Amino acid sequence: MTTQRQTPPTNPRLDAVPAYKQGRSAPAGASKLSSNESPHPPLPSVVSAIADRLGSIHRYPQMAAPEIIGRLAARYGVDPALVTVGAGSVELAAQLIHAVAGEGDEVMFAWRSFEAYPSLVRIAGATPVMVPLDAEHRHDLDAMLAAITDRTRLIFVCNPNNPTGTVVGAAELERFVAAVPQDVLVVIDEAYVHFDGSTYFVDAASATDPERGAGLELFRRHPHVAVLHTFSKAYGLAGLRIGYAIAPAAIAEAQRKVAVPFGVTDLAQAAAVASLDAQDELAVRIGEVVVQRDRLHGVLVAAGWPAVASEANFVWVPAAERTALLDELLHAGGVVARTFPGEGVRISAGSALDIDRVEAALAAQTILTADVREEATA
Ligand SMILES: *Cc1c(COP(=O)(O)O)cnc(C)c1O
Repeated sequence: MTTQRQTPPTNPRLDAVPAYKQGRSAPAGASKLSSNESPHPPLPSVVSAIADRLGSIHRYPQMAAPEIIGRLAARYGVDPALVTVGAGSVELAAQLIHAVAGEGDEVMFAWRSFEAYPSLVRIAGATPVMVPLDAEHRHDLDAMLAAITDRTRLIFVCNPNNPTGTVVGAAELERFVAAVPQDVLVVIDEAYVHFDGSTYFVDAASATDPERGAGLELFRRHPHVAVLHTFSKAYGLAGLRIGYAIAPAAIAEAQRKVAVPFGVTDLAQAAAVASLDAQDELAVRIGEVVVQRDRLHGVLVAAGWPAVASEANFVWVPAAERTALLDELLHAGGVVARTFPGEGVRISAGSALDIDRVEAALAAQTILTADVREEATA
């Protein structure tokens, strides 16, 4: 008998799954504007809440996460059974897909949108249906409605959209949800809802709470809507991994079945609770990020780049054939952004210093062009 060494075959459905690419890491001293993180270090109250729990990390966390789930349920006036937590909302997106879709089913989303969607769908054995954004880099809701088939099980609406920063307004979204058959789950991914000051709120009352975006109102009014929120972006807890979903009871129950047990640590739960206690401080920080985002947009436009007005904590520059040039300029100026070759660059809104750097980096090109022009006329 031959004893040739052979590795067991991997699941063939993984052949179509691209490896998840993290935002490029930045060399020491560079501005890391590649992952839409908060430029602010954690709040002292959050650090101290985490420190208080360090002495019990030999214990498993409470799987039901009663404190944070109780707080969220009370905040939104929903039954705690409808709230689930996960290791970042990306885990909840995976849970929702697994809860409703499998082999032969379709999961729809706009493209370009959140890079994790295609992989998560493929891993579940389902087929991603990617509907191009419109000419203004917004969701094309009519095209999405037209793409629904009897195999469609779930539709993501990323709002504001990553990486374009555009939003679907509350009224448009309401019309869309009402037109989607009720056996299709509409998942409204509001990772960036806190940064949106525009069209996204259903009424004046909801606009006073940065999280009460259209998603929750639609969840209340329709039986086939779920909402995803995360503590990673506006709350600055990206490194701790905690997000939550609010979903219809049967869907939430299915999510709990597919969840990886003990995926959300006690430290993350404590940090999330402490963050809910620090809303006012966080609101100030969010306001600062919004100021820098708008400044970033202005700086790009002034330098001649086709930046898209954003309602998130980043700005999309659909630079097309000039993408490599923009990437190079930013890199040379000590700024690391997220580049999609041939398509564009997404730059996160960092601190004032970070945006100063972007401004200086872009100015280098004007000088470069001026040099070339001088040479040409000499
Ligand atoms: C960052 C992001 C998330 C979630 O990130 P987590 O850190 O996993 O909570 C979800 N959706 C979109 C669109 C994002 O950009």
